[in-house]
Amino acid sequence: MSQNNVDVSEIHWLMDMFQTVDVGLVVLSADYRIQVWNGFMENHSGLTPRQVRDRYLFDLFSEIDEDWLRRKCDPVILLKNRAFTIWEQRPYIFKFRNYRPITGSAEYMYQNSTIFPLTDTMGKVTHLCLIIYDVTDVAVSRIELESMNGHLRTLSKTDFLTGLNNRGFWEEALINEYKRIQRSGHHSTLLMCDIDHFKRVNDTFGHSAGDAVIQQVAAAVKKNLRSTDVAGRYGGEEFAVLLLDTTVEQAMFFAERLRKNVEAMVVEYNQQILRVTVSIGVAEYREDMAEYRDWIEAADKALYQSKANGRNRITKGDGSE
Ligand code: GH3
Ligand code: MG
Ligand code: MG
Repeated sequence: MSQNNVDVSEIHWLMDMFQTVDVGLVVLSADYRIQVWNGFMENHSGLTPRQVRDRYLFDLFSEIDEDWLRRKCDPVILLKNRAFTIWEQRPYIFKFRNYRPITGSAEYMYQNSTIFPLTDTMGKVTHLCLIIYDVTDVAVSRIELESMNGHLRTLSKTDFLTGLNNRGFWEEALINEYKRIQRSGHHSTLLMCDIDHFKRVNDTFGHSAGDAVIQQVAAAVKKNLRSTDVAGRYGGEEFAVLLLDTTVEQAMFFAERLRKNVEAMVVEYNQQILRVTVSIGVAEYREDMAEYRDWIEAADKALYQSKANGRNRITKGDGSE
């Protein structure tokens, strides 16, 4: 083979590779007219190289934000830098439909791109080359993973039976408030609530009936909450509510409403009617509480007193009703 034939073959192979490679290759003149358009671009846009040749990029693809892409490309022309775009920034440059079977959930192809300068023999930048990568697989699995993580985060802080915060998450909120209030000097009040004679409910009507009662009492707690209050399922049939920026006297209104709501509540289970009451203890934060557990203990002590005094009642941290 003569040298000439070798050169021709190489160019032929290069053209073949250029057409078949699984990335988009686009060459633009410095005034953004399309010069080169490979097979990938043709397949995904449905436009042949002849149809796009010399067309102004932003006329042909109105989905491209011209200002944004020019801001990316100007330094490529002026400073001979490379530029990159990633799907996290903008999902795509060219709006191509996604046909991949595995990542079929994505409507459009997610794209990364590299933009680099093409120079003439004098070293002057005359053209830009865009390489478009289809990153739909990566993007879709990342997005799915993130939404899964969000879901798991919610699950890990929520009590399954009642939908209230679980004890761990609630206690964390209490610790944060304990730290905050030491600095701010505000008033916040802690409320503990326990269902009276709950063992009897379980023993008489069964555990599932007991669960239904717990759910309804939790719903009553939720109903009375303000957006800044933080309620949690503290134990089996015990609930804790942190009332932010609330004095113990103000908390008594919340507590009394809750007590009355539960007293009036009728739980229907398997055609049977169940009624329960709750006992409540409320304790406002005091500066002499050396740690957050002292605050819980104060509310718990008040709750215990409500039980001792006959149940279905509310006691304050100082022992008064
Ligand atoms: P008191 O008025 O003194 O509170 O009496 P009590 O019977 O309610 O006593 P206590 O609070 O000690 O009883 C808690 C009972 O709650 C014991 C346990 O069997 C039951 N329990 C705890 N968690 C659950 C649950 O998730 N579902 C059901 N059905 N019962 C639970
Ligand atoms: Mg109880
Ligand atoms: Mg209990």
